[in-house]
Amino acid sequence: MIDNYRHKGLRRKLAEEIRQKGIRDERVIGAIERIPRHFFLDSSFVEFAYQDKPFPIGSGQTISQPYTVAFQTELLEVKKGEKVLEIGTGSGYQACVLLEIGAKVFSIERHHSLYIKTKALLQKMGYNARLFYGDGYKGLPAFAPFDKILITAAAPEAPPELLKQLKIGGMMVVPVGSGGTQVMMRITKVDEGKYELNDFGQFRFVPMLGNKE
Ligand code: SAH
Repeated sequence: MIDNYRHKGLRRKLAEEIRQKGIRDERVIGAIERIPRHFFLDSSFVEFAYQDKPFPIGSGQTISQPYTVAFQTELLEVKKGEKVLEIGTGSGYQACVLLEIGAKVFSIERHHSLYIKTKALLQKMGYNARLFYGDGYKGLPAFAPFDKILITAAAPEAPPELLKQLKIGGMMVVPVGSGGTQVMMRITKVDEGKYELNDFGQFRFVPMLGNKE
């Protein structure tokens, strides 16, 4: 794994592009500038790692577009030390962005091969996320409640089990919709069973799948 001056230069440009597109949180932009995204892609795509685009990562899944990763992370308003649950570990890139801004990260992936591959990669890179193989719809009751929950696949609705695992005052960011595009929703748990909803425009994600699909 080589991270050279050329990669670093491309990363600075990508960070600037994301700033131009409207991301304001400098902690998030700093994370994008630091994390070698080319480590997360299959080697045939390395040259494209610093374009602001999603890419295939195997098992029919994708690594999200950096702008989308930054957008979702910014919406979460993570404070240092907060417990964040991510659904859809995928390549692990989003988990690393969360770690870089000081979150304690828990992440679930339903594809076993991706889980294994990503666990090895993050270990090698020295990123300390707690990764789990399983069904994200169920969350991690043993580790709940979470300050924040981030869903990185399209969900038909905010999963009820996950809303239960959110702290009061906590927030969930989730792309909601089962068609071709989804609406980015931020749901704040203001009290037990009481939520405030905000939407933040249209995005495109791979679908969140149940256990048996
Ligand atoms: N956050 C990832 C991008 C993920 S793409 C990254 O930074 O690379 C969405 C991921 O969600 C895929 O890896 C997919 O396998 C996973 N996924 C889909 N349904 C899921 C479920 N029910 N539970 C956990 N993971 C799921």
